[in-house]
Amino acid sequence: MPWRRTKDAYSIWVSEVMLQQTQVSVVIPYYERWMSRFPTVGSLAQSTEEDVLQVWQGLGYYRRAKSLLAGAKFIVENGFPSDANGWKKVPGVGDYTAGAIASIALSHPASLVDGNVERVFARLTGDRSNGTELSKNAWKWADENISAASPGDWNQGLMELGATICTPRDPNCSGCPLQLECRAFLRGLVSELPVASPKPEVKALRQTFWIILFDDSIHLTRSAKNEWWSDMQVLPVSEIPPSDGWAEDLGRFKFTVTNHRITAEVKLLRPESPLEGFSLIPLNQITEVPIPAPHRKALKLLHKI
Ligand code: SF4
Repeated sequence: MPWRRTKDAYSIWVSEVMLQQTQVSVVIPYYERWMSRFPTVGSLAQSTEEDVLQVWQGLGYYRRAKSLLAGAKFIVENGFPSDANGWKKVPGVGDYTAGAIASIALSHPASLVDGNVERVFARLTGDRSNGTELSKNAWKWADENISAASPGDWNQGLMELGATICTPRDPNCSGCPLQLECRAFLRGLVSELPVASPKPEVKALRQTFWIILFDDSIHLTRSAKNEWWSDMQVLPVSEIPPSDGWAEDLGRFKFTVTNHRITAEVKLLRPESPLEGFSLIPLNQITEVPIPAPHRKALKLLHKI
């Protein structure tokens, strides 16, 4: 992993934000593209929201890109933080990311807990809590046990152990260096821990995505703040057609956002003149615009006509 070969706080910050809710193998090419486009916090601070969303495109959870940009601007104005508490003041940086940067880049004894550490903690200590209680207990344990001599190695070791050996399913207990101290292993409770939190109910939704084509250009609109994909360019989504005329059915597909399972029906409209209130983007420039993955998928159905 490229971010494990550096002690640069900016690089570690970027990697940790990308790794939130995304797998390592998916993150690596995005990380490399991001670092070559924005190699320093200064270059990131000078870019626009559109620039960062474009590089982030396809990685999902786009508010992470926006928070990196806001954080870079904050750092350029206030200077690089010198400890975990300073990092927590950077917009978008929480306890986990602050702990990762402070321990790995600054060698400060700052603890951290992510899903991997939580799982190792629950099994190692036999903790039977879940949800916020488990998180609270894991943080307390991480604070009490952090290595003062090598906090970065300690934190990375815990995370790697959870990611590669103490995995959610089929952990490799026979290859685990903590086997003889692990309560879950010694008591035969490995498959029961950590105790799962009840899953949120999945809500089914149907939406109609409108591809409004005029002169080889697509009508896009900016998603409102606090909506899914806020500030990104999206296709209009509505039950009622955005204009008169015959709507051609292009197909349907399913996708998931948070706890919603959505069936998207994609329809094509060809108005006689451009509609007001939209950005008109030529089809051959569409890859340069930050468009969330489901809307891009809907646009791909255009190639079938
Ligand atoms: Fe995880 Fe098994 Fe190691 Fe315990 S012995 S920490 S359950 S891998």
